[in-house]
This record gives sequence, structure tokens and C-alpha cells, in this order.
Amino acid sequence: MNEIKIFCPATIANLNCGFDVLGLCIDNIGDEMIFRKSPQKGIKITKITGADIPYETDKNVAGVAALAIIENLDLEYGFEIEIHKKIKAGSGIGSSAASAAGAVYGINELLGKPYTKKELVQFAMKGEAVASGSEHADNVAPCMLGGFTLVRGYNPLDIIQIESPSELYAVVLHPQIEIKTSDARAVLKPMIPLQSAITQWGNVGGLIAGLYTKDYELIGRSLRDVIVEPLRKGLIPNFDNVKNAALNTGALGAGISGAGPSIFALCKGETIARNVANAMQNAYLETKIPFDIHISKVNPQGVKTI
Ligand code: ADP
Repeated sequence: MNEIKIFCPATIANLNCGFDVLGLCIDNIGDEMIFRKSPQKGIKITKITGADIPYETDKNVAGVAALAIIENLDLEYGFEIEIHKKIKAGSGIGSSAASAAGAVYGINELLGKPYTKKELVQFAMKGEAVASGSEHADNVAPCMLGGFTLVRGYNPLDIIQIESPSELYAVVLHPQIEIKTSDARAVLKPMIPLQSAITQWGNVGGLIAGLYTKDYELIGRSLRDVIVEPLRKGLIPNFDNVKNAALNTGALGAGISGAGPSIFALCKGETIARNVANAMQNAYLETKIPFDIHISKVNPQGVKTI
């Protein structure tokens, strides 16, 4: 095999209570990438559409992730990469993670799959560091593996795939404003009160238990964030109205997707998801800020060859 085309899905990180550790893969929005073996050694990005991101291999998330996987291999050939972005950078639905996970998945396929998808996460994290300054896996892991993932720890990297009930739908409203991850980090406080920590880890446990036992009520009760959302929501115009509109229309829970500005809701079943999407949309119209909205089932597969 000398060439492949892949789909790299968008992801929702944090899921309210799981700041920096939980993530979820969605289905109908994602980038496409094409990989070709080339006689020239190394990694060359030959085409980018849909985004103004760097062509330089060492500045592009995809380039750095791709270099990480071939670093210790003594290859007689190299790779060309085309990146076709559909996920806007700075949208909060894992734009950089899609490129990072996609790059290592694509190269691994052309190498004859020396690594499992789980093993690939560590290389993709090196790419993510270009966008955010630190190697983190809360978007990369669900993009790579699909479904819900928990980053239990980094030392050593310990990623847990979590089963999810089949009727779970995500709605994502993406306002067309950019929030830099660094700005969204700057509003956070380094210390948290013990009482908030207790509430938060109770909810993380509840969410995981709810997913495994397919208890939608428990999932809903647990989708709360008393630590990060109160500090970050001011960065997103009309956040409270959109969130309340989602909850009042039957969403199990709603909150900030990743570092924002996207707002997500989780719902039981497609009908409720459509009603929730309408309500969120109506609540956002007041802002006059353009936005797009996506309804998606949980994507159980993650990045894939198309
Ligand atoms: P997101 O959370 O949506 O991934 P970030 O703000 O974390 O957004 O990362 C986007 C930053 O990474 C932008 O500054 C962008 O220019 C840079 N970047 C470099 N390469 C890529 C790439 N292949 N895809 C997306 N963003 C990239």
C-alpha cells in the first residue's frame, strides 16, 4: 500500500466533570487526510485546504506527530501528507487532535501497522504539544480510539476505553469566534477548594458508572462541573441561556466543549437531540454571532481509513 485516505473525527473533551481526563468521539464532523509514500525521506506537507495552518513540518501538529512515529525507524523512504480541514482551529472540538491522531494513524497504516491504535496515542500527543504547549491526550485518545475515553494517568500513559449506551447523542453548537486554549487556561485557578474537588470526583465516578450501566439519569446527574465552567463560561457569549435551553428541552447535561467556545449537550435518542439542537440554536440567535450546529451519535470507531 502506497497511499491512503482517512477520516479524523472531532471530539468533545472534558465532558464537564472530567477536566483534562475525559473525552468523547463524534461522528459526522471531521477532517480528511491523504498519505503517500515518497522516495524523499522525512515528512512533507504537500497540501492544506480549509484552514490557515503552517506547512512547515515542525510547526504543524500533523507534521510533528508524523515525525515522532518515524523518528526511531531507519526508513529508506518518507511520506507526503495532505490535510483537508473541516474542524476549525480553536473551536474546542479537537481540531489539532484530529490532525495529530490522523497523522500517526495514516503513517502507521502505510508502515504495515507496527503499532496498535492505543500505542499510537503517545506519538499523537507529541503533535498536540505544538498547539497547546503540553502533551495531553484528552482529545487525541477519543479521536484515535472512538467512544468515551478516560486518561487515568500519564506516568505511565494509561488510557481506558469506556463503553457507552447506544442511544447517546451529542449536540455541538460552535460559535464562530476563536478562544485560544492559552486564554481559556489563563482564567483557571491553580488551587481548588476541597469541597469542590469532592463534588467533582463524585460526578466523575457517577458519569463512568452511568455509562457502564446505561443509566441515563445517572449520566445526567453527573454531567456537572463546579470547578472549570464557572470560571470559563464568561468567555462564551450567551452560554447560560444556551445551556438552560438544552436542559429545559430534555438534554441529560450540557457544558463547554474542550476549551470552548463550542457548547455541547448529551441527549438520550435522536428526537430529543433534534429538539435540543433547535432550542440551543434559538437561544444563540440572540447573539448575532454566526454559528454552526452538529448532531451526532457517539462514534465508536475513531479515526478510520475511507
Ligand atoms: P483545538 O482545541 O480546536 O485543537 P487549539 O487552539 O488547541 O484548537 O489549537 C489550534 C492551534 O494549533 C492553532 O494555533 C493552529 O494554528 C495550530 N495548528 C498547527 N497545526 C495544526 C493542525 N494541523 N490542525 C489544527 N491546528 C493546527
